[in-house]
Amino acid sequence: KSLEILKQQEELETSALNYPKYFRIAVKEAKGSTIIDVDDNIYIDWFAGIAVVNLGHNNPIIRKAIETQLDKIWHYLEIPTEIRIEFMKTLRKTLNFDAKFLFTTTGADAVEAAVKIARWNTGKRYIIAFNEAYHGVTAGTVGLSNSTNHRKFQPYYDNNVIRLPYPYEYRCPFRDCLNEVLSLVEHEIKINDVAGLIVEPIAGEGGYIVPPKGFLKGLREITTEYNIPLIVDEVQTGVGRTGKIWAYEWEGIKPDIVTIAKAIGEGIPISLVAYNKDLDKLPQAFHLGTYRGNPLGIAVGNATLNYLMNSNILDRVVSLGEYAKKRFDEIMENYYKGKYDVRGLGFMIGVEFSNERKDPINVKPYIETLLEKGVIMYKAGIYDNVLRFMAPLTIPKQLLDRGLEKFEEAVKEEPR
Ligand code: PMP
Repeated sequence: KSLEILKQQEELETSALNYPKYFRIAVKEAKGSTIIDVDDNIYIDWFAGIAVVNLGHNNPIIRKAIETQLDKIWHYLEIPTEIRIEFMKTLRKTLNFDAKFLFTTTGADAVEAAVKIARWNTGKRYIIAFNEAYHGVTAGTVGLSNSTNHRKFQPYYDNNVIRLPYPYEYRCPFRDCLNEVLSLVEHEIKINDVAGLIVEPIAGEGGYIVPPKGFLKGLREITTEYNIPLIVDEVQTGVGRTGKIWAYEWEGIKPDIVTIAKAIGEGIPISLVAYNKDLDKLPQAFHLGTYRGNPLGIAVGNATLNYLMNSNILDRVVSLGEYAKKRFDEIMENYYKGKYDVRGLGFMIGVEFSNERKDPINVKPYIETLLEKGVIMYKAGIYDNVLRFMAPLTIPKQLLDRGLEKFEEAVKEEPR
């Protein structure tokens, strides 16, 4: 049945589809960390709809938040509802700076707004972004991003971007990676009209690259010295994924602007920008949009943050994440003997594949083998050379272990 539905999808939907080219299934339903396809095959979900369903599919807490709000109202632009106010108060409790909020709809939309806020406040033009960055596919964010897919569109979009290397230690061209990158940042800020610097605390689409300790702190020091807004893109790293609600907390810094999307809505499209109230000199109707701040998404966001704050799930993410990382490392060492890199924080773990010359190896065959074995795992990396673990934070330990067994089988079977 799956193949027939996929065929019909190809007839009806754009040739630009991506994910069905990797996962040849049609989905019937999902619960917790499992997906069931229309042929009743059951899969362990290590994908979570790209780090979105952090609390698991069909989570009863989330379901209840949606149902309660459904009975009240589900669309009314910026006219406030009680849940809107409650959510912003909850969100403030999770942030370490005095924040104001601007609602958006998608991750890219939040980044667009963030960059606009930085440019408006500084009156400057250039944005510093990193080589392994991914910030979205809209006209502005495509210019900030740098996958092979993005590069072909760049001439047509916002080119007011200064691109610098991310401290990607496995492939770093510099001997002193962290300090070289930081001094490049400072140099560019000195010679250019820089309006802001945007950074992912862990490069997500770019390959689940964890920068060395001190990177965000260093960026914070430099941007503070030169009075440049620091935009932290938490679209993928946020909402508990790394074992803290916000990944920047690991470095103890205070950002100026934070972009939030994906897991805050657990699948209901909602995103927002949190920014320091000193930047709140924005004119009326600065960044309007019909669907921004949807009450259903807000209700979900509020329930999600309350759950993260009032349960022990974040500790679980840290300890199970460390356990999984160690297992990935052991498996890779067994079969790849030094020609790999495993890195991660919490439930954001990247497994990079290479050969003896460190040439990247495309991981598509692994994705297919894993799917056959019942594990949904997706790629990352600008060379499609990284498998990423981004299961729901609620995954039972048994399913994690079962997935790891299947991962080991896949690595063992695929020819190197
Ligand atoms: N920023 C980051 C860090 C992301 O990972 C993504 C999406 N993968 C985006 C922005 C764009 O979000 P969206 O797809 O919701 O536009």
